[in-house]
Amino acid sequence: MNLLNQSHLKIKNSIPYFEVPGIGEIQWVRHAFLTRHGGISHPPFDSLNISFSNGDRSEDVSRNRERITSAFGLDPNRLVLLKQMQQDGIVVLKDFAKMNPSPLEYDALITDIPNLSLGIRTADCIPILVVDRKRKVIAAIHAGRQGTAMHITKKVLRKMKEEFMSSMKDLLLTTGPSIGPCCYEIDQRVFKEEWEPFSVKKQEGRWMLDLVQINIAQMKEEGIDEEQISRIDLCTRCHHDLFFSYRREGRTGRQLSFIGIAE
Ligand SMILES: [Zn+2]
Repeated sequence: MNLLNQSHLKIKNSIPYFEVPGIGEIQWVRHAFLTRHGGISHPPFDSLNISFSNGDRSEDVSRNRERITSAFGLDPNRLVLLKQMQQDGIVVLKDFAKMNPSPLEYDALITDIPNLSLGIRTADCIPILVVDRKRKVIAAIHAGRQGTAMHITKKVLRKMKEEFMSSMKDLLLTTGPSIGPCCYEIDQRVFKEEWEPFSVKKQEGRWMLDLVQINIAQMKEEGIDEEQISRIDLCTRCHHDLFFSYRREGRTGRQLSFIGIAE
């Protein structure tokens, strides 16, 4: 596994971001995992908040979005964001013209459409970006606790096989900044027995959970090898100076992770 940390942070037009070397080398892919910095939103959304639904001024969010699309050369009308539902719904985009303009109530997207970018908004949940190097297919996943419990990552990989004939050996996958097992405590009500190997029991009925490892296990169950996986190994709650963290801050912003196919 390829681990990235703070030393991998890059900057473009005053916007700090992480780029995964293996994916960055692919000519037709654009991707970045952004932080909370480089935008104009005021506290507690400071500063690159990309969510319109958490109480931030919508004109500030729009300007943040413009800063991102202009810095990374993305077509602002072709950056697709989801109304994330904390479920396991996956949308497959094959024809941009036929896309329904109403909110996309899903937690993952897959596409092979050129000049289209897919974005995931998070503040502790895991953004996961996937590239099929051979078939020129990309996917973006929002994996929170509930999506993870519903095996969303595994389902996305299966969908890529079904819809695009993706071969697992051609994929590169990266998990972005998210809450780590150092900070993610859950209780009996939501704990699942299958998570036992990925959790440390803290006291009766309370566990520290490693959500990233659970998603990596789902990738491996579908045939992904360790060397195809990269991980931005930074806990959002520990590094709240760099990332929005819902668990730490409650009322806060969302950072964007995106992947796109360049023309
Ligand atoms: Zn932590």
